Amino acid sequence: MEQLIEQATSFEVSDKGFYGNFGGAFIPEMLYPNVEELRQNYRQIMADPAFQAEFYALLTDYVGRPTPLFLAKRLSEDIGATIYLKREDLCHTGAHKVNNTIGQILMAQRLGKKRIVAETGAGQHGVATATVCALMGLECIVYMGSIDMERQKPNVDRMRMLGAIVVPATSGSQTLKDATNEAMRHWINNPVDTHYIIGSVVGPHPYPDMVARFQSVISEETRRQLLDKEGRETPDYVVACVGGGSNAAGAFFHYLNEPSVKLVAAEAAGQGIATGHSAATTALGKPGVLHGSRTILMQTDDGQVTEPYSISAGLDYPGIGPLHAHLFESGRGHFHSITDEQAVRAGFKLSKLEGIIPALESAHALAALEELSMTKDDVVVVCLSGRGDKDLSTYTKYLD
Ligand SMILES: *Cc1c(COP(=O)(O)O)cnc(C)c1O
Repeated sequence: MEQLIEQATSFEVSDKGFYGNFGGAFIPEMLYPNVEELRQNYRQIMADPAFQAEFYALLTDYVGRPTPLFLAKRLSEDIGATIYLKREDLCHTGAHKVNNTIGQILMAQRLGKKRIVAETGAGQHGVATATVCALMGLECIVYMGSIDMERQKPNVDRMRMLGAIVVPATSGSQTLKDATNEAMRHWINNPVDTHYIIGSVVGPHPYPDMVARFQSVISEETRRQLLDKEGRETPDYVVACVGGGSNAAGAFFHYLNEPSVKLVAAEAAGQGIATGHSAATTALGKPGVLHGSRTILMQTDDGQVTEPYSISAGLDYPGIGPLHAHLFESGRGHFHSITDEQAVRAGFKLSKLEGIIPALESAHALAALEELSMTKDDVVVVCLSGRGDKDLSTYTKYLD
């Protein structure tokens, strides 16, 4: 069955930017020149040996790659499978997001851009963007909802310390959606000298494909490391959490066309799928257009985007990237909705069993392990997307 699906679908983006029924570039006409410039150049720039050399050198010496693939023995014993953790939490800045921002800042330089604009929700992508702008000496403007700026003050302070200008988005609900609108407006008004760094595999083509390729270093390394440790490059399962889907896309990328590898995505059920406080996109969503691409998103019957909720800021997004919508629709990806409580419990479990405090986002992927029926010979790779220091105050509310 899996094999048939595999033959019938391609996981490579089409010329027009589609994965099956999802993707494309649904953008206002004013944005077209910017997006088109990127579309025409990104693959060629990424394939240039000088670009590759610079990208990999920075991943090595600045980000700290390759990240370890760690055999979690006590967790394996507990779950009843052979579990490896891909330690993206050990990347500089504490999560996988910097893999993408390093790639995009080099892309911006090749395109002759002088200024970077980005949007951020909880501030994690804003910090990863401000970091690489400082590294390269490019001006950095980050739009952030004014409510989010209050809720996530430490990340606002980090961005400012790194030299970024943080602009409060004061329209609408004063959160991520409004920050995105205002960042887009900035880009439209400054098309020649500005590059927009998107933080996940979302947005108009070519962003989802470009971001997936920058993050694909995760599965590129995993294959090598697994060969070394297990004598084969392919695990039985790869498990990752999905907000927009960039760490999952990176962890899945070099396994997309290996039907023997089950791809498991953990999305945030929040307080529960049926509670109205959730970000379980595939469980609740329908096809529609969000942030420039056709995908699956949570919406009301008349098409208004629903306000998402999750305990983890990084999964608090009403859609998923178009690649993931296609993985879901085609059956290639297996999606699990994980509640706040399940995630917190899994976060405590990893801390106590392995001495690793995971980000709440990553804890969703760990919780999904409990829902899979595996045997102890099954080899599982979990993408540990980030470290949990930022989530301590949330975790400690559950300490008794
Ligand atoms: C932002 C973030 C996520 C969610 O983003 P994806 O694009 O889905 O990977 C997951 N984990 C961590 C640690 C994050 O910071």
